[in-house]
Amino acid sequence: MRTGSMRVADISLPAIRHNVARVRELTGGAVIVVVKAGGYGHGAAITAQAALEGGATIIATADLEEALALREAGITGPILCWLHGVRADFGEAALADIELGISDLPQLERAAAAARQHDRPVTIHLKVDTGLSRNGASERDWDALFARTAELANTGTIRVRGIFSHLANAGADADRAQAACFDDAIARLRAAGVEPELCHLAASAATLSSPHLHYTAVRVGIAAYGLSPFADKTSAQLGLIPAMTLRSEIIALRGVPAGTGVSYGFNHVCETATTLALVPMGYADGMPRALNGSGAWVTVAGEPRPIVGRIGMDQFIIDVGPLAGRLSLGDPVVLFGDPERGYPPVEIWSGLMRTINYEIVASIGPRVLRVASETTLP
Ligand SMILES: *Cc1c(COP(=O)(O)O)cnc(C)c1O
Repeated sequence: MRTGSMRVADISLPAIRHNVARVRELTGGAVIVVVKAGGYGHGAAITAQAALEGGATIIATADLEEALALREAGITGPILCWLHGVRADFGEAALADIELGISDLPQLERAAAAARQHDRPVTIHLKVDTGLSRNGASERDWDALFARTAELANTGTIRVRGIFSHLANAGADADRAQAACFDDAIARLRAAGVEPELCHLAASAATLSSPHLHYTAVRVGIAAYGLSPFADKTSAQLGLIPAMTLRSEIIALRGVPAGTGVSYGFNHVCETATTLALVPMGYADGMPRALNGSGAWVTVAGEPRPIVGRIGMDQFIIDVGPLAGRLSLGDPVVLFGDPERGYPPVEIWSGLMRTINYEIVASIGPRVLRVASETTLP
């Protein structure tokens, strides 16, 4: 492992285990934990392992490539993926025992061909569109897809483990309409002679708000990382613990007189004499450049201090003013983490950037070392 990294995302394994166990306790069914996009920036393999330890039944990714990378990283539990390019090699999926979300007949035939080629059944979850209008089979195609699935299941070519759909989070009425559509799909699959073990519709938002949408499994991403899918509810209010602490360190301290311009464009000018601390994290690491001048803050020596001046590709500056005498080079700077531990919540950045916490964590860059930690549970 690289050591001495000056850009670190500490990932609390106890927090992930706790969050997954919390979802299990809430739902009572199977929990599928989504680790797409590098585990929402937390590290896919780190998250997958902790999620399995917390009681996850299946680990999920969007792409087959991500699923195969998890196998290579030593994850041996069930893995599902559902977003396929037209050239994705389902033979690789068969060999690595990856479960496939299947949205249409051509994908089903590719899965069957891979099963025959490698002489082993391929496990699938049928994906149906119930109103989101993304992937998933359209209602008019269900009967043909289900009939062919039944044929392939009867010959042992395909094993059908589940049926699933994804909500648009467009309000309670829209959720109910999608659930009714999903019920219809399940009934028509059963009528075709296929009994799915797992029916899954809810992602984090519905899992945490709508017990009537739990079915026999839920598929959570953001909740497993301890973040809230709701603008008006915090992690703590949901019984979740944020797993990521994004930190760096002070690599230079500079006393400056009043009137000193800071960083590109001098859009910050120090009003009084103060001390500036240089932190080697920038927009290439996922720190939005547009946070500049927005009032965003970090914690240094346990105290909140403002980010000043433009954020560069590799570095930014904080005004450490009154703390200066207590600081040394190498002191940690926390950009965000669990507010219950005194750190700025990631939602400060997502709020200032008019986006969602998902986008901030998923954008943490490749130079940031993800470090699995056993010790950051409060
Ligand atoms: C990303 C994703 C999820 C997880 O969503 P969260 O809101 O993070 O829980 C679940 N299902 C599908 C199909 C997804 O693409």
